[in-house]
Amino acid sequence: MQAKHNYVLRSVFWAGVYLLLVMLPLVVLLLGPVPPGTTFGWDFAVGLGFSALAILFTMFVLTARFNWTTHAFGIDIIYYFHRWIALVALVLLLAHPLILIGVEPLLVEYLKPDAPGHMLAGNAALLAVLLLVVTSIWRKVLRLHYDLWRFLHAVLAVLAVVLAAIHIAGVNYYTDAPGKRELWLLLAVSVVLLLLYVRLVRPLLLMRHRYHVVEVTAERGDACTLAVAPDGHHGLTFLPGQFVWLSLWHSPLAMREHPFSIASSALQPQSMKFIIKQLGDFTSCIKDARPGQRVYIDGPFGAFSIDRYPNAPGYVFVAGGVGIAPILGMLRTLAERGERRPLWLFYAYRSLPRLTAYEELQALQSRLQLNLVIVLNEPPPDWTGERGFITRELLQRHLPANLAALDYFLCGPPPMTASVEHSLAAIGVPQRRVHTELFDMV
Ligand SMILES: Cc1cc2nc3c(=O)[nH]c(=O)nc-3n(C[C@H](O)[C@H](O)[C@H](O)COP(=O)(O)OP(=O)(O)OC[C@H]3O[C@@H](n4cnc5c(N)ncnc54)[C@H](O)[C@@H]3O)c2cc1C
Repeated sequence: MQAKHNYVLRSVFWAGVYLLLVMLPLVVLLLGPVPPGTTFGWDFAVGLGFSALAILFTMFVLTARFNWTTHAFGIDIIYYFHRWIALVALVLLLAHPLILIGVEPLLVEYLKPDAPGHMLAGNAALLAVLLLVVTSIWRKVLRLHYDLWRFLHAVLAVLAVVLAAIHIAGVNYYTDAPGKRELWLLLAVSVVLLLLYVRLVRPLLLMRHRYHVVEVTAERGDACTLAVAPDGHHGLTFLPGQFVWLSLWHSPLAMREHPFSIASSALQPQSMKFIIKQLGDFTSCIKDARPGQRVYIDGPFGAFSIDRYPNAPGYVFVAGGVGIAPILGMLRTLAERGERRPLWLFYAYRSLPRLTAYEELQALQSRLQLNLVIVLNEPPPDWTGERGFITRELLQRHLPANLAALDYFLCGPPPMTASVEHSLAAIGVPQRRVHTELFDMV
């Protein structure tokens, strides 16, 4: 209870700090001598523009993977927030010129190519944010490769704030008083410094804590287990179920890292394991990694962990496909801790031969009070277990009467987790007891 209470307090604290960061630059604009306002519509539109920019500045802090923010919420939640707040910033930015033109139609001239440079900078900043949002929401539809998208995202983000800062400095109306213009310029410079930290300083720091490949073993279901060990240091302290960003074949400076859940026990930081399913360019090459090869690890991240809910009377895990990875990490940790509380694992897969970690899960049943419920889509003819999908009825058949008091951990394809979340709500499990990890951040 105490641990959960601390997380809630920390989350409230950081949400407060976020609001302060967004509001502070606006409050500073109202301090000291303020130029006379014009119409309400005009001042409101200008306020919207400044608010949007303040939000854009905070995006760089949000995505810098600082431990103090990621630990409170989990980095996945922060990325989702980043996604939605970006839409808010875009709406505010679009409203800024539209309202101004509504108030003063002559301003439409500033949309033309012969407009003054600082106005063109403002238009270009708006275009950059629009592109940022469009390429992020529709990346897959646009068939943008993840690495290219990531590069584009960083370039457009810096362009957007630098161009917006040029726009503000050029207009220089509400920022004319001493200190105000400098404040906005300082904010723009801090963004560039933050980016330098994320792209240069942090990767260089990671390079001082190297790991190496110990072995790669094939798993059922087009997956591999990648085992790594630290090079002359104690390894990572992490909560079971968390994930890291892993760089293999490239240094962290190349920004070619991929997120993977830690599938090994949190009590064995010297021997970390990842279960990686072959899906694309990077994951399909894991099988070719050789013992001794250098690995870099950034982490741990994520809030998907039983240790954040230590007082639950029992845990229910729901996995689909390679979603078993973080859950296996939690089960292995629980087994090593000698856990006696009841546990349930609903594990959905297409067919038995593809069921990753099947043998180990069966073995874990003798070390834990684990109720293993395998749900096959294409069961063999002699299969007597569950088949089809994880439905509300199926869950009710296996869960105990106190099902609303248990904590639930879901990881799998988004349609599966969404459907299970729905079923759990329907059988009376409170939303706060359901924790989901999504492997699809963008
Ligand atoms: C929190 C988290 C934990 C994960 N844990 C596991 C795990 O334990 N086992 C496992 O097999 N997979 C895991 N994944 C998914 C894994 O990161 C992707 O499958 C992998 O990065 C795909 O890379 P690729 O080049 O092989 O495939 P691609 O075909 O290039 O990409 C497939 C999809 O994976 C995503 N992706 C690609 N590159 C990255 C990247 N650098 N960062 C983030 N997402 C990317 C994109 O949505 C992309 O569309 C996890 C993902 C997240 C977000």
